[in-house]
Amino acid sequence: MKASLDELKRRLLEVNDLQMATAVLRWDQTTYMPPGGAEARGRQMATLSRLAHEKFTDQEIGKLLDRLEPETAKLPFDSDEAGLVRATRREYDQAARVPAAFISELNEHCAHSYQVWTEARPANDFARVRPLLEKTLEMSREYAGYFPGSESPADPLIDLSDYGMKASDVRRVFGELRTRLVPIVRAITAKPPADDSCLHQHAPEAQQLAFGLEIIRRFGYDFTRGRQDKTHHPFMTKFSLGDVRITTRVREDDVTDALFSTLHESGHAMYEQGIDRSYEGSPLASGTSSGVHESQSRLWENVVGRSRGFWNYAYPELQRAFPGPLSKVPLDTFYRAINKVQRSLIRTDADEVTYNLHVMLRFDIEVDLLEGRLAIRDLPEAWRARFESDLGLAVPDDRDGVLQDVHWYSGLIGGAFQGYTLGNVLGAQFYAAACRAHPDIPERIAKGEFATLHTWLRENVYRHGAKFTAAELVQRATGGPMSIEPYLGYLWDKYQPLYDLEGVAAAR
Ligand SMILES: [Zn+2]
Repeated sequence: MKASLDELKRRLLEVNDLQMATAVLRWDQTTYMPPGGAEARGRQMATLSRLAHEKFTDQEIGKLLDRLEPETAKLPFDSDEAGLVRATRREYDQAARVPAAFISELNEHCAHSYQVWTEARPANDFARVRPLLEKTLEMSREYAGYFPGSESPADPLIDLSDYGMKASDVRRVFGELRTRLVPIVRAITAKPPADDSCLHQHAPEAQQLAFGLEIIRRFGYDFTRGRQDKTHHPFMTKFSLGDVRITTRVREDDVTDALFSTLHESGHAMYEQGIDRSYEGSPLASGTSSGVHESQSRLWENVVGRSRGFWNYAYPELQRAFPGPLSKVPLDTFYRAINKVQRSLIRTDADEVTYNLHVMLRFDIEVDLLEGRLAIRDLPEAWRARFESDLGLAVPDDRDGVLQDVHWYSGLIGGAFQGYTLGNVLGAQFYAAACRAHPDIPERIAKGEFATLHTWLRENVYRHGAKFTAAELVQRATGGPMSIEPYLGYLWDKYQPLYDLEGVAAAR
């Protein structure tokens, strides 16, 4: 078994090196590369991705897995060797069933579609992307076809980011959440809106960046294994467990926009930095699902970063950093401003309460498209109708409607959105479990001490990487399956006093 395992690890390390090299090229592309580099960069990344795919889907890896599976099945479930073989098998089956020709056609199509979308969105021109989107839907169905026996064509696509969840599981969770969430949204939006004008003041870029970096240093982001750079659309990326980077953007007319983006990405990054270093270079060395990943970004950004306790500690420091805009603004006013809830058109600008309605809308539309209940030509209208009924807003144009998110225009349709809301749900569930183990966590946060929370997360979530599936990890870390109750409890406890809500029967 040892020889087979060593050979498997050696091959996986090569695949990993090609993938990480691609990540460096992509990071550079979105941070420092001059525009003249675009064409060659696209080709270079495509070459490396193809080589990685070829090496990973080599039949020899399949044979090694066949040989190792009966052996590692005898080991304890939580042994690293058994976990490695399970995680590699999942990814191998996902990759090897899909012909290489399909992958390169898809990459080419997506690059083209993305390019057209960047022009069609500002021009509010859905007709231009429509034929491309029709092809994307066709290819998404074709992808699903490589996994016969699925309950829904959406299932294999969901498996790519939230392995093991079926469309029917997501729909059930979202259905329950929606029933309980809508009355809270109604109750909040019936009240006078919070005044967030104190946030929209001039704040110099250098101070904004410095403040965010100081906060995440305190959270526990390790700068000897990471750094932050500027980009248009913030993201986290990893080149090895010793180099986990984040990016942010700054608006000088918004005091906290860069800050919350930095806190969000630091949550993703601390997850990756916290993975057991011995997993380096293997499929275990990454977060286990998009839902769990997003749970960490949202936990640090919202559950911690938008909490009253956190600002008890951080607000005097923020006032010192921005004395002009904030010296006369009381903490209460600031706290209400950063937790303003309102129905809005754009998902990425939405607050943590209404955000989920945006996600559910997209998820249902994706499944309707994949299952043939909705055609691309009817998509803008379906979007408008659903927005009206879910958020009570008339969508003025496609630019801020069906064209707003990059996902459908740069990748397959299906599986890309549910992780955001699963992340909200799981973030609250992990936080509740951490507080059960250490009831002084909120008190410590209010003093600017984050080590107790960070250590609990590292021990119970981060270090395992992809050794357990999301469902297995949630069970181990929180003592039960995924549940919407901690999230609803969190929202109610926070927003009831903020908006002086009276008992919403469904909420608790
Ligand atoms: Zn995120």
